[in-house]
Amino acid sequence: RVRTRYAPSPTGHLHIGGARTALFSYLWAKKHGGDFIVRIEDTDTERNVVDAEEKQMAALAWLGIQWDESVDVGGPHAPYRSMERTGIYEEYLKRLLTSKQAYPCYCTSEELEQDRERQLAAGQAPRYIGRCRDLTEEERSARESEGRMSSVRFRVPAGRKILIEDIVRGDVSFETDGIGDFIIARPDGRPTYNFAVTIDDALMEITDVVRGEEHLSNTPRQILLYEAFGFKIPRFAHAPLILNPEGKKMSKRDESIIQFIDQYKELGYLPEAINNFLALLGWAPAGEKSEEEIFSLDELTDIFSLDRISKAPAVFDTGKLKWMNNHYIKEASLERITDLAIPHLIKAGRIDSSINESEKTWVTRLVGLYQEQMDYVAQITDLTALFFLEEVEHSQEAKTVLAEEQVPTVIGAFVEQVKTHEGELDPEEVKKLLKAVQKTTGFKGKQLFMPVRAAVTGETHGPDLRESISLLGKERVMTRLETFLG
Ligand code: GLU
Repeated sequence: RVRTRYAPSPTGHLHIGGARTALFSYLWAKKHGGDFIVRIEDTDTERNVVDAEEKQMAALAWLGIQWDESVDVGGPHAPYRSMERTGIYEEYLKRLLTSKQAYPCYCTSEELEQDRERQLAAGQAPRYIGRCRDLTEEERSARESEGRMSSVRFRVPAGRKILIEDIVRGDVSFETDGIGDFIIARPDGRPTYNFAVTIDDALMEITDVVRGEEHLSNTPRQILLYEAFGFKIPRFAHAPLILNPEGKKMSKRDESIIQFIDQYKELGYLPEAINNFLALLGWAPAGEKSEEEIFSLDELTDIFSLDRISKAPAVFDTGKLKWMNNHYIKEASLERITDLAIPHLIKAGRIDSSINESEKTWVTRLVGLYQEQMDYVAQITDLTALFFLEEVEHSQEAKTVLAEEQVPTVIGAFVEQVKTHEGELDPEEVKKLLKAVQKTTGFKGKQLFMPVRAAVTGETHGPDLRESISLLGKERVMTRLETFLG
């Protein structure tokens, strides 16, 4: 049975890189009818952030990435939060200490820092020099009685080659001589990432470890631990880095790109667009599907495979994400998009938070007018600005149109029509009024519609004119036309 996991550290919001890893892991498990686990790796306690766990899980749930086992739903390998598993790690730590595959290290941070500087100065890659590797019992007790703190290091065997048969990267090998004895438990007993992750992945029977390439160099250490415990080694797949739109490595502070899933949600990106986009960030379908770009989560589940993940870094193409989101917005129901749009309009002070039924109907029509155009729903505020202003500002193009000779006649006639019209201006009525203007003035087509549009909306292009006029309503339309005529 295929079992995969996503193992976030609760140090912040769900990042696009993390979301992609979670998605790949999820898809691989679901493709095989297996299990997807979310495990919280919170052993780096000083980096933990309150609420980060909940927020990350909420973001995953919003994307539709459902877990079978985790901190909230439990499961056969509970607990799923590392800091609740310290008893387990202690037991495994004892085993390594007893078999001498691990040893206490009393080096101070000053000593380690000096070693490091010396190695760097000598042009060597820094690694632990093994000062505490072979301490005698007496030396140990001496350090203990000095009150020195000790961490625990894993004794890395010399002269071996560790081979990672990575599904994405192929065979990657590391010389153990390049790996210093590494810390597996901190002075207060907390395990380090490499130690906890190995025990957890093994005990949780994870078959496929999917994670970002930044962890590749940790993998030989983990393999050494798998071997030391006699655990079965899982398959590994390291997904390539995600580069920013300029093709550069990104930092958390990179402003050329929106990096967190919550921010996309906030802006009115749809989860199906995010999933679709992230799936294609470093992965591509095979065969006849390779030319296609739009995939639902279900389709992805069918066609996904780890061996189609690319080794090459993936460049985050914001334009493509927008295009994709626009596609899904167009496909979504008007009702759904309206519900997403309303909070933005409220926040911008365009509509009241106590919106009633008839206002909701009006807003729905307004959103409908722009549904095709939105790359993300937050754009609704700017797109519809002219519907909330008393007066419009005329663009340069509008001014040019309005300077044409026939304009006063056309607008004058339209004012007459609107003024004498009884009742609401629904689009059908607007059509009739414009027809009447055509009849009385003899102007039609562009000569008729452009000035009306320019005078009423301030623009020479925009969505359906009749619906726009209808939504603006009689009063606003009259104000604008009369202001124009002066
Ligand atoms: N907690 C690690 C991280 O957030 C997980 C790495 C792994 O998947 O092994 O990067």
